[in-house]
Amino acid sequence: MTVRLCPACGRLNLADFRYCPYCGEPAARGPGLAEALEAPFRRLDALGAERRFAILGEKLDTLEAEFELLASRHCKAVQEGVKFPPRAGAT
Ligand SMILES: [Zn+2]
Repeated sequence: MTVRLCPACGRLNLADFRYCPYCGEPAARGPGLAEALEAPFRRLDALGAERRFAILGEKLDTLEAEFELLASRHCKAVQEGVKFPPRAGAT
């Protein structure tokens, strides 16, 4: 299913609509949404976005491990086996 954004109201329209069903604006001409998003996503790939997310994930793992270590030393709740974040209703 190919969709486009209405140039007037910004809502998603099916590509074969001649007018926007929400605001009545004549349908946009040109590439569909998927084709229009292809170039920006290609640029993201070129920037190494995937690698950056992997690095962020590793940093988060490190922070989580450090937090657990600190909490195990200083937090009574953790010593008593409460997992963070505590669930609603947990004591
Ligand atoms: Zn519209």
